[in-house]
Amino acid sequence: MRVAIVGAGVLGASTAFHLAKAGIQVVVADQAHAGRATAAGAGIVSPWSSGRVDPGWRAIADAGARYYPALIQHLAEAGETETGYRRVGALSVSADDAELDGIEQAVRARVAMAPEGGAVTRLSPAEARAFFPPLHPDLGAVHVSGAARIDGRLLAAALWRAAERQGARFHVGRAEVLVRNERVSGIQLESEVVEADCVVVTAGAWAPEVLMPLGIRLAVAPQRGQITHLHLEGVETEAWPVVLPQSSHYLLAFGGSRVVVGATRETGSGFDYRVTAAGQAEVLNQALAVAPGLGSATLIETRIGFRPVGPDLRPMLGRISGLEGLVIGNGLGPSGLTIGPSAGRLLAQVVLGEEPDLDLGAYDPLRMTASTEQSPGTG
Ligand code: FAD
Repeated sequence: MRVAIVGAGVLGASTAFHLAKAGIQVVVADQAHAGRATAAGAGIVSPWSSGRVDPGWRAIADAGARYYPALIQHLAEAGETETGYRRVGALSVSADDAELDGIEQAVRARVAMAPEGGAVTRLSPAEARAFFPPLHPDLGAVHVSGAARIDGRLLAAALWRAAERQGARFHVGRAEVLVRNERVSGIQLESEVVEADCVVVTAGAWAPEVLMPLGIRLAVAPQRGQITHLHLEGVETEAWPVVLPQSSHYLLAFGGSRVVVGATRETGSGFDYRVTAAGQAEVLNQALAVAPGLGSATLIETRIGFRPVGPDLRPMLGRISGLEGLVIGNGLGPSGLTIGPSAGRLLAQVVLGEEPDLDLGAYDPLRMTASTEQSPGTG
């Protein structure tokens, strides 16, 4: 069997890795759009800290977080150890004790269902600052030890290289899906036709334009996120936890004295690849209100990413009835770095005709049920 994949963000890269690992011949095309979500994503992996209640989202987000250690192990066995993955824990912070009581109760209930969330501990403001020194002195916290962070760029690159070593071929450039006799027959690259038995479209926010010529209207739209990287000269930040205030904003840290703060959620942005004055102000004001100790940090860069957002924030994963050989993976929204690696494995199982580890009934790519749930979850 030969499989072509259109789009190699975290979802396409993971699909390619799992298919190549299973011995399938894989060709991947990626256009490397400015604003591809995986290259901008913050990298928080902590579904237990999210108040989102939708069971479909929770099942796949928990599965995503649970899969990470195994994936990191698979990658290490393939010689890839640079992913930025680290279990650093997460602090849900608030200055209001009653609010922290509610958060603690909810996080404990979620971790009871998903033990990989680890230990849940209530922290005084002084204890919270010991974990994340720039934090506002009034903020207490609920700490969840299993939370992790990942570098989306490093992870995707590690997955590509590991897949390539297993024989996958990567092509940088635009691809179109080809159809013959009412089934997909491959992809058209700039100067080459790649015949394939199955085409997986994991083209993120750009997928609607890839699928439109096939008569498929995918209910996905770009949601711009502006996210800022700061440098704290001489400060070792590698093991600092994720910080989650009670809003859609957050802070997290990586090695190299880097602290990442964000992000805007700009629904209706289209593909407007710009750092705006209002977006930058929002990100910095929110971050400094939570962590005034970052005021003297150096602003290194602001990244822009277009989250692929569907009608109800559940991912869209599976085959399309009526067009044989087509598989879609999309709608990862603000949680794609959590969900993407395991969702790529699920897509590989679909392609291989195996029973997926998770029932995909709730994730039909062409469902159109609009839900109003908007509560924040990851980045
Ligand atoms: P993308 O990464 O956008 O990849 C799609 C790829 O398809 C692109 O490379 C594009 O060039 C390619 N493509 C499109 N059309 C074509 C074509 N015709 N031919 C070839 N290639 C094509 N998630 C979390 O879990 N935790 C977080 O903390 C978090 N923070 C975030 C913060 C921000 C600011 C943003 C923007 C996102 C964040 N996310 C987070 C969400 C996560 O980054 C995304 O959900 C995820 O990266 C989406 O991956 P994807 O592979 O579906 O899409």
